[in-house]
Amino acid sequence: MLKNKPVSSKKSSNYKIQLSDDEHHAFVKLKSAITSNPVLAAFRQNVPTTVETDASHEGLGACLSQIHDGSICIIEYASRSLKDPEKRYHSNELEVTAVHWAITEKFRLYLVGQTFKLITDNYSTAYIVNKAKLNRKFARYVVDLAAFEFEPIYRAGKLNIIADHLSRYPQPVNDENQCCLAIINSQNDKLVHAQQADSFCQQINKKLKNTNNTVHILQIKCMYKYENNILVHVNIENGFEVSKIVIPFSFRNTVLQYCHDNTGHFDNKKTLSRIKARYWWSSTRKDCALYVRGCKTCQQVNRRTTSAYGMLGERPIPEVPFEVISADHLSLPTTKAGNCYILAHICHATRFLLARPTCTTATDDIIHTLENDIINHYGLPVTYISDNGSSFTSSKFKLYLEKYEIQHSLCPPYTPQANGLVERSNATMISVLSKFSLEHPQMIGTLSYQI
Ligand SMILES: [Zn+2]
Repeated sequence: MLKNKPVSSKKSSNYKIQLSDDEHHAFVKLKSAITSNPVLAAFRQNVPTTVETDASHEGLGACLSQIHDGSICIIEYASRSLKDPEKRYHSNELEVTAVHWAITEKFRLYLVGQTFKLITDNYSTAYIVNKAKLNRKFARYVVDLAAFEFEPIYRAGKLNIIADHLSRYPQPVNDENQCCLAIINSQNDKLVHAQQADSFCQQINKKLKNTNNTVHILQIKCMYKYENNILVHVNIENGFEVSKIVIPFSFRNTVLQYCHDNTGHFDNKKTLSRIKARYWWSSTRKDCALYVRGCKTCQQVNRRTTSAYGMLGERPIPEVPFEVISADHLSLPTTKAGNCYILAHICHATRFLLARPTCTTATDDIIHTLENDIINHYGLPVTYISDNGSSFTSSKFKLYLEKYEIQHSLCPPYTPQANGLVERSNATMISVLSKFSLEHPQMIGTLSYQI
């Protein structure tokens, strides 16, 4: 489809590149093809999946792809720079670190329960994964990787182009957007027009074109530039250049809405961090605070939680994830699927919440959820905390916990604050569901169908 042959024909590394019109045209076309919509595809279950990884002495790179309807589709790219201790690793160790990071961290959610192929450009990685001659660090890596079902395949570095490139141009390790996501922004054209019409952007544009390089003009030229026709603000964060889209006045409300309303109406701090990850305008902090304070949905649904905090029971935080678990039932209006409760399990160490819709509060249902959601994935808990509901105090549940030597900690009657962690997460769940139902009454049918 693409006439990229003229570009790829210049293979020699010593070749001095001089592009003819034809080659330049191919280069521009190729560049636009890899930066325009749609670049990434949505993940599908049970189709051939491949993870490619690579490491260089600058960073780690990984790419998750699938075969959709006979053609290769990229699901996600990821890269990160090396942490200080990693800079001293041998290249084989770096390759294994890249595999461990890609599978158990970056793409974990996609890969759990999925068979996939792992392609790396280093033979030792495939060897280390297959064999068990290990040092302690690799032993831990292999234990972590044992939870995944994959077939390691060797591919020469020259052919492992995507992951190789990502590892050589890594994202800063502390950047919130570690994923090198190709941003699919359907509003790009509108944004360009809005920037052209905005008085602030016009001023900057004039200064960028100014050839009279005074100190002020040079400062402006360091702080702003154009990327794909879009004006961006450039900043140095953790030693890396980070560019954020300059949001024109007419677009600010859209961005605020996108980062607050469309992502679950979280508080000012979270909304601001979402905005700052990608966008820039001078009064971001003030505008965000005003927007969140004035949000009608938040005012209707949010309840004051500050006074309640003092009442919530505090327990020491365990060191091992899923060692201590709290459970509770939350009532719902009956949904289309016939569910009228949510059974919430929350881990005290990580605050990870598992919410399962259910149509009954029966003991069998709790045991089934506990086994499938917790024990099968994370192992046996040491302590299980619940209220005095009859399903939690039944002899069947008591026997079940005794069988696995799980200690049952019951909260005193009428003191839900003793189980503060799960009560707080219930309040957050109710808040998010209420806001959603208020804003999208037409969607409730779909939501109810899902839950
Ligand atoms: Zn809100």
